[in-house]
Amino acid sequence: MTTNDVYAALGVSPAVLAFGERVLGTLGERFAAIDANAELCQAKVLAAMRKNHVNATHFAATTGYGYDDAGRDTLERVYADTFHAEAALVRPQLVCGTHALAVALSANLLPNDELLAISGKPYDTLEEVIGIRPSPCSLAEYGVHYRQVELLDSSRFDLPAIRAAVTEKTKLVHIQRSKGYQTRATLSVAQIGEAIAAVKAVKPDALVLVDNCYGEFVEPIEPSDVGADMTVGSLIKNPGGGLAPIGGYIVGTRACVDRCAYRLSAPGLGQEVGANLGLLPALYQGFFLAPAVTAAALRGAVFAAAAYERLGFRVVPAPDEARHDIIQAVELGSEAAMRAFCKGIQLAAPVDSYVTPEPAPMPGYDSPVIMAAGAFVQGSSIELSADGPVRAPYAVYFQGGLTWHHAKLGVLLSMQTLLDEGLIAL
Ligand SMILES: *Cc1c(COP(=O)(O)O)cnc(C)c1O
Repeated sequence: MTTNDVYAALGVSPAVLAFGERVLGTLGERFAAIDANAELCQAKVLAAMRKNHVNATHFAATTGYGYDDAGRDTLERVYADTFHAEAALVRPQLVCGTHALAVALSANLLPNDELLAISGKPYDTLEEVIGIRPSPCSLAEYGVHYRQVELLDSSRFDLPAIRAAVTEKTKLVHIQRSKGYQTRATLSVAQIGEAIAAVKAVKPDALVLVDNCYGEFVEPIEPSDVGADMTVGSLIKNPGGGLAPIGGYIVGTRACVDRCAYRLSAPGLGQEVGANLGLLPALYQGFFLAPAVTAAALRGAVFAAAAYERLGFRVVPAPDEARHDIIQAVELGSEAAMRAFCKGIQLAAPVDSYVTPEPAPMPGYDSPVIMAAGAFVQGSSIELSADGPVRAPYAVYFQGGLTWHHAKLGVLLSMQTLLDEGLIAL
């Protein structure tokens, strides 16, 4: 049995496979660079695990209050050391990325404080957290003022405008590394460092929070290495390595993380409570695997970019562009093409491969969202997935892949579906 036979059995035609192989032939150097970065990040994680003497007792389950939970506390030290931060809050009680961001913001902003976003409009779900779209319990309801500075050319910080916008009233500055559901560029850690320096030059005590979702382990350094007071993300994205079944993290200064812990549990309790519920083996092992899993996802993203660019679609980033997150946007131009792309990704899934994704309303999003995801962890987007709001420019956001070969099959089947429906020609 040949690879061609196996792919044919899965529905990939020889023509699509041959097209894919031609595209792959151009990507050797890109893949080598991805692997070199993964090696560096793997070493960072192992150094932190070794320094903190991770051992089998740290995997024990705790219940109830979770006082003296050494496994939980050590995992937080491992995160803090990997990110070169003073402290970390890493918990299953942070139920998703949006929750971690909401905790970080609400813990460090008081009534009449100003929140300034300097990478343009934040991720959709944060619009309700901030109150850009009115919502019960938003920061706006509690009297937090909000302003934003747009990116220049959708690709870089507007440093003069940022310097002008930071005033005495600016308490906290928000930066989003990844594009989210936009077709702007993702910001590099180096760019983020320059923006943080610009903010701190005007107001040294302004706090800077970086939404790091999808960015972890894509580059050798993280926003916490370039002055971010808080770096925040989701464990069902990169740092959970596909094994974490839930969770979020906040790494940063001791002062900021302490406030986050008081906000998450209760004033006076803070980081001392919070049972691990038996989830620590997955959180440790997932973090250990995360650099390799992120590399698999990056290979898939680069392959998708190269393939779809060759097919004539606008892709962000371009296949030869530097990557700062695992997301690949492909502007498909129509709802039909979005549906076909997602149908193909779903056909490659280990779970729910027999269903066809349909657009549907989603809490936190203002247009229907189509989502292909056949994941072991529900909603996990470090597992191979594709999604996007059904609105112009009909972009799908392709991300994840716990293994490179799965990501490859997903891209091949997406092209096959578009081809079968007459939406592309090879
Ligand atoms: C996914 C994401 C979030 C929200 O995370 P959830 O876990 O979906 O709540 C926030 N910001 C960005 C940039 C994201 O990609």
